[in-house]
Amino acid sequence: MGDLALRLSGISKRYARRQVLDDVGLSIDRGSFSGLLGPSGSGKTTLLRIAAGLEDPDAGTVTLDGQVVWGPASSIPPERRGVGMVFQDLALWPHMTARQHLEFVTGGRTSERRRNVEEWLERVRLLDRAEARPGELSGGERQRLAIARALAPAPRLLLLDEPFKSLDEPLATVLAREVRELVRRAGATALLVSHARAEALALCERVAFLHGGRVLLEGSPGSMLEDTAPEAVRSFYRGLTAPIVGREVSK
Ligand code: ADP
Ligand code: MG
Repeated sequence: MGDLALRLSGISKRYARRQVLDDVGLSIDRGSFSGLLGPSGSGKTTLLRIAAGLEDPDAGTVTLDGQVVWGPASSIPPERRGVGMVFQDLALWPHMTARQHLEFVTGGRTSERRRNVEEWLERVRLLDRAEARPGELSGGERQRLAIARALAPAPRLLLLDEPFKSLDEPLATVLAREVRELVRRAGATALLVSHARAEALALCERVAFLHGGRVLLEGSPGSMLEDTAPEAVRSFYRGLTAPIVGREVSK
């Protein structure tokens, strides 16, 4: 229990007549880089929003680092969950410089915090762009700023919801690897949502496949491509071959 960064159990969520999540369970090991996969509309975003506290489930329990943050007797608001988020819509602040983004989330003023901000600007290669606003940054730079903003306050869990979707393929691959490395160096735990078939398999140590409101399969990336996987998983991955799994995508 103590090694789990996130534990979701019995999570259900219904919108109007649609049961989007139906008794979903998911456990994420501390320090891991995990993936949540599944077709469009399978409830991936809804599940992340529930973990972050942006949405309340109809039933179930959300536990972060052993602390129940949502359950029959508790409801901890998002700002007190220590969860960092990067969504496809990066939600950067247009009037703030890159440096101000990081100062804002870290408190900004003491010398220790200033050092932290400098360190993050350097880690995401934005030191020379520190005084630029989002409108003046490239797509990749904006992405890296969003990642730094999420990681700088040292969240206990980082949730990534298709953060590379708007970027073209080679850049998305490079950034995805960079993010994984940043997460690892920060000693953080990350859960990456993706519907890009190869991406999550190549990046993640563990993956869960969501379909029809349930986790159909949870395991190693390779398990998604095995003949014994449920039909919905096999049909999602049809045509994708095994060598992609665990491969270090070059360039
Ligand atoms: P995914 O991220 O896997 O594509 P989502 O979690 O965004 O899936 O959505 C799952 C389903 O829930 C979709 O059918 C979507 O239309 C529906 N849904 C998501 N959010 C809402 C909402 N706020 N109100 C009504 N329906 C919603
Ligand atoms: Mg989504």
